Amino acid sequence: MDFSLTPEQRAIREAAREFALQEVSPHVEELDEAQKFPREILAKAAELGFLGVIFPEELGGAGLGYVEYVLVVTELSKVDPSVGISVAAHNSLCTNHIYKFGNAGQKKRWVPRLASGEWIGAWALTEPGSGSDAAALRTQARKVDGGWILDGSKAFCTHGSVGDVYVVMAITDPAGRKGKNASAFVLERGTKGLRAGKKENKLGIRASDTAEVILENCFVPDENLLGQPGEGFRQALGVLDGGRISIAALGLGTAMGAYETALAYSKQREQFGQPIARFQAIGFALAEMATRIAAAEALTLAAAIEMDTAGKVTLKAAEAKLMTGEAAVFCSERGVQIHGGYGFVKDYRAEKYYRDAKICTIGEGTSEIQRLVIARQLLSA
Ligand SMILES: Cc1cc2nc3c(=O)[nH]c(=O)nc-3n(C[C@H](O)[C@H](O)[C@H](O)COP(=O)(O)OP(=O)(O)OC[C@H]3O[C@@H](n4cnc5c(N)ncnc54)[C@H](O)[C@@H]3O)c2cc1C
Repeated sequence: MDFSLTPEQRAIREAAREFALQEVSPHVEELDEAQKFPREILAKAAELGFLGVIFPEELGGAGLGYVEYVLVVTELSKVDPSVGISVAAHNSLCTNHIYKFGNAGQKKRWVPRLASGEWIGAWALTEPGSGSDAAALRTQARKVDGGWILDGSKAFCTHGSVGDVYVVMAITDPAGRKGKNASAFVLERGTKGLRAGKKENKLGIRASDTAEVILENCFVPDENLLGQPGEGFRQALGVLDGGRISIAALGLGTAMGAYETALAYSKQREQFGQPIARFQAIGFALAEMATRIAAAEALTLAAAIEMDTAGKVTLKAAEAKLMTGEAAVFCSERGVQIHGGYGFVKDYRAEKYYRDAKICTIGEGTSEIQRLVIARQLLSA
């Protein structure tokens, strides 16, 4: 659908589509099979500005808005959700946290190198004991002369083993109120006491790097604290609003990829002397997929527009993420079914969409947590 995209926005979508087909598509199966992080692809994506879409040009970004960002992540995810999630986590979690809450010096120090793709960004909130209940984190930051000593471990960190810059949330006031006792720190690769733990062997988005991050007696100077002590969890919630729009784009692209693959296959595969697309059961499945995608696309763009215009999107971002995540899972499952046995083997991409889609109902808040956020917003209005 075109909604009322400007000619520039359509051109960016076209550039992302072209890039995904030319530079990503030939490598999808190989990267998935080897669980290989697509560093070279991301370096090329950076040349087009995709690693700094939403940051101003004076900080090395492309100076664009969330609508453009959604178009880029959607097109990449249509071809490979692993690349889509990397671009999403890099832009809207790590870099955006520094951009939104860093002081001028901190932005100047880190944003240009992230936006240019020279450095890869990671964002570490989740811990082994705190996922949905993210404020129950236990990583500690103890004040010492000139900085803080961090100890703890983070779970499921996107780019956990390949990141160059990490934004890490840690408790700075153990006696303080939950949600008001954590702070956010920037750590660079090579910081003594910071290392990657286990790299996860995942169901889907296997080319995207996900790993534990271990912090052991890790000294972080005062100038790496983002904002004031105690603001870390509130900052993280603000970052997640934008992050959820990018995960919505990931889900939308995944659903579209699954649908387009299934549509093409249904026209070409013949049974009982005719293309299977002529059977009403297949047509109904395609109709249901297309309708859910249209709804998911409308909600995702509505959230992006609200972010670009009003800057506050808690409700719309959660609605978009819930809808697109569920649409991705539904469409990828129907996609496998439409492929029959060929949907169950790796010769076709249907099975990969099916595996990749599931992250969309889990990462950056599960579907259940999105429902909680939406209900809370509705009831407090
Ligand atoms: C591939 C991948 C990449 C990720 N990347 C990052 C990253 O870069 N940075 C980061 O910080 N985190 C990251 N995460 C973590 C992700 O955000 C969490 O996995 C997610 O928030 C869920 O937390 P959990 O896994 O601990 O599940 P849990 O919180 O233990 O949830 C288990 C189940 O209980 C349900 N549940 C929990 N609480 C409630 C409730 N109150 N009401 C109803 N149901 C509830 C959940 O919906 C879920 O179904 C990533 C995860 C994955 C798998």
